[in-house]
Amino acid sequence: MSQPGEYRPDRTTAAQRLEDLPKPKVVECRRDRAHHTCTQCGHRAYRDKRLRRVLHDLGDPRADRPVDLHLCYSQHYCSRCRRYFNADMSDLALPGASYTHRVVSTAVRLVVEDGLPYRTASWHLWRDHRVFVPFATIQNWVEAAGKKK
Ligand SMILES: [Zn+2]
Repeated sequence: MSQPGEYRPDRTTAAQRLEDLPKPKVVECRRDRAHHTCTQCGHRAYRDKRLRRVLHDLGDPRADRPVDLHLCYSQHYCSRCRRYFNADMSDLALPGASYTHRVVSTAVRLVVEDGLPYRTASWHLWRDHRVFVPFATIQNWVEAAGKKK
């Protein structure tokens, strides 16, 4: 029987191979619009195609599994500027990023506010949030956050 505060070791510490790790839970998201205002000229640009990207989010602590957002988004073509641009998804992640804002801000807080070394922060993110971030990536985030201040 489980007692409150009972110590239960991390069942993945012994996992040596990637395929032994818990499978991510997939959450479908959409930033898909038929038309979108061009960010440069304000022209109403129609959807040209739909694309997908995967974003690693903070894991699900109840299921003890990582969470991946499968994001379907629209790409638009502005006939006036003759350029392609994507639907706004800046609420979820930076352009080209593989992790959500939630992961980045949690990682930066672990280092800046809690004073953890990068490798420890990387381990903490895996153990408590089930998201794998290489420590060098965390270092890049912290340095980028420092430049903004
Ligand atoms: Zn335009």
